[in-house]
Amino acid sequence: MINYLYQEQNWQSQLSDLITDPRELLNILELSEQQLLSGALLASNQFKLRIPRAFVAKMQKGNPLDPLLLQVLPHHLELEDHPGFVTDPLGEEQANQQPGVLHKYKSRFLLTLTGACAVHCRYCFRRHFPYQENLPKTEDWDNIRNYIESQPDINEVILSGGDPLTLSNRKLNIWIERLASIPQIKFLRIHSRVPIVIPNRVDESLISLLKNSRLRIILVVHSNHASELDDFTCSQLAKLVEQNITVLNQAVLLNGVNNSAQVLVDLSYRLFDAGVMPYYLHVLDKVKGAHHFDLMPQDIDHIYKELLANLPGYLVPKLVREIAGEKNKTPLFGVSTY
Ligand SMILES: *Cc1c(COP(=O)(O)O)cnc(C)c1O
Ligand code: SF4
Repeated sequence: MINYLYQEQNWQSQLSDLITDPRELLNILELSEQQLLSGALLASNQFKLRIPRAFVAKMQKGNPLDPLLLQVLPHHLELEDHPGFVTDPLGEEQANQQPGVLHKYKSRFLLTLTGACAVHCRYCFRRHFPYQENLPKTEDWDNIRNYIESQPDINEVILSGGDPLTLSNRKLNIWIERLASIPQIKFLRIHSRVPIVIPNRVDESLISLLKNSRLRIILVVHSNHASELDDFTCSQLAKLVEQNITVLNQAVLLNGVNNSAQVLVDLSYRLFDAGVMPYYLHVLDKVKGAHHFDLMPQDIDHIYKELLANLPGYLVPKLVREIAGEKNKTPLFGVSTY
């Protein structure tokens, strides 16, 4: 069997050759299709399976409990209803000011340029979000500019999604230049999981457009387990760090994936190897279909306490939850309800 040489394929062709059939995924991993209990295929119709082959290459063959696999494989439990688990847990539809703009926090707002992601994470809080109605078109730019200029507190724009790094460098550059033309904007943040699931996305042209911008660039990647960070992925991230781009990581605390202090300690050290700083550890957003990833508050407390004890302070991610209507992410720890 020939190993899949994803390092040699450009990111565009990897993005157009995603795995979308759960059976193909299981075959590659040498797992039985029995793994797909009835209902799993229905779940994958609701929120399509979508996985880059480079991400599958980091999974362990023959292991049905692989922590990377569990993040992406549709599960029949997604079809269950649970009290408190809803389609829009963060009330984002209310915060949606105009196409593409999601402004909830004082100095910064989300600009969603695409609804597409390279990977579909089963726990995603946006799995039910109506992206397509919300994307800005070129003619919306004037309105976005006016919006920013009417809010002098805004100094940072966060490209979010969907995943902004599924866009071509050309499109990305157009938007970054537009934003850089507004003097009050100092910082540009990019929230993306693509560098983790298709490390080749960090290509020369991306690096050069980021390093040549007037804006201070912060890339926030999303990785939940050290196995997502193989040597190649780390070396790609390190290329950005070398160009003075701040690279941070956000993770989500997920039952079955990373609900152990040791796994999270390993993740922090692995990130640090690549020059990436742990930023947030999110408690699961209570989105319909993700209940089986949820943890008990006392388990979360226990894990976080051990993290604090086992890591230097600078490698401890902030444990937070996004609460609908709040003006910032809410720090958690030692609270009775999560
Ligand atoms: C998390 C989030 C941000 C960014 O918050 P930081 O705490 O600055 O990382 C901005 N807008 C929305 C809607 C968010 O959910
Ligand atoms: S927005 Fe992020 S968490 Fe959600 S599916 Fe896309 S990559 Fe995964």
